[in-house]
Amino acid sequence: PKILLAFGTRPEAIKMAPLAIMFQNLHESFEMRICVTGQHREMLDQIMQFFELSAHYDLNVMRPGQNLFSLTSRIINDMRPVLEDFKPDYVFVHGDTTTSTAVALAAFYSGCKVAHVEAGLRTFDKWAPFPEEMNRNLTSKLADIHFAPTRLARKNLLNEAINPASIAVTGNTVIDALHLGLEIIDNRPSEYIDKLKGVIDLQKPVILVTGHRRENHGDGFLHICAALREVALTEDVNIIYPVHLNPNVQKPVYELLSDLPNVLLIEPQPYESFIWLMSIATVIITDSGGVQEEAPALGKPVLVMRDTTERPEAVDAGTVILVGTHQKKIVDCTRELLHDKELRLSYSAISNPYGDGHASEKIIQFLFPDAYNAYLKKKLTRI
Ligand code: UDP
Repeated sequence: PKILLAFGTRPEAIKMAPLAIMFQNLHESFEMRICVTGQHREMLDQIMQFFELSAHYDLNVMRPGQNLFSLTSRIINDMRPVLEDFKPDYVFVHGDTTTSTAVALAAFYSGCKVAHVEAGLRTFDKWAPFPEEMNRNLTSKLADIHFAPTRLARKNLLNEAINPASIAVTGNTVIDALHLGLEIIDNRPSEYIDKLKGVIDLQKPVILVTGHRRENHGDGFLHICAALREVALTEDVNIIYPVHLNPNVQKPVYELLSDLPNVLLIEPQPYESFIWLMSIATVIITDSGGVQEEAPALGKPVLVMRDTTERPEAVDAGTVILVGTHQKKIVDCTRELLHDKELRLSYSAISNPYGDGHASEKIIQFLFPDAYNAYLKKKLTRI
């Protein structure tokens, strides 16, 4: 079969990389091509380099001042020649970005089957997060095959009358990526990690912070920064904060936190140094979706600076605590985790609701059982 993987943002690239590598390993059974839209240009390229992947098609869609109208129409238009050239049997898209939905629609117009990875996440509020919740819903409508990371995601799809035979529960490929990534950084020197090792006092607990969500711009980030300031001033810790490049994030963060000696404000990190930072962190404070899934695989507690999450599995499992952007809640929960070692250690005993790192295998097994059996045979003869 001919497979086209299409993605455009950093999280999509991270979560599609393990699948691309699996298809590459199975090159006797598949002809696989990667199409990137370039929705997150530099961060996307960095992930491709890290996983040693290259794009066969690069739409490079971003323009200065681009809005959702022009982005969506550009992707749909530019996908047409790609689909006509390669004529894939399946187009794989991921998650909830504008890239996913626009590519899925273009694939539908071309009569190609669409496979949706990380399908079935819902907040049930079409405006939040915007436009992601609508993107997810629309992509589910367009897709022929749905790879749900959890049973709850499957249930959400069933409630929307999606054919149960077209849904497979696979775990999240983000865990596959994390395992691959940790193996790479163990075996390949990284200037980014070395640089961080030079400036972080590893004797002190590390609090790792990331945040970018639109819904937290304005008052949200002011409260978050006030909470981090309070923790930095009263606790013997290092706060490491890769600050998102959005000016709505940069402004409050640099204004409120840059004078503190134990707060290290750094650029958004390449994946390799970010997963290293997660692995050494005592507590992770974030509003990111992917980090909520990755952290439990490392046994780390996560405070999520949102009031709701489309990842309630992690809240139910106890690995994620929703703290919103309330200063007192953020400070109290951080302190509790810093001072209660047993509580902290209990997080490594919780099994990760997002799977065991074999999601890509399960995806291939579901859709292409013959190719998967051939892969297993090859793996066994190698052992
Ligand atoms: N990440 C990264 N560098 C950073 C912050 C995050 O490589 O400085 C990775 C992180 O490991 C996760 C992904 O980016 O896999 C999450 O991306 P983001 O928070 O932008 O998107 P979301 O997951 O919220 O869609």
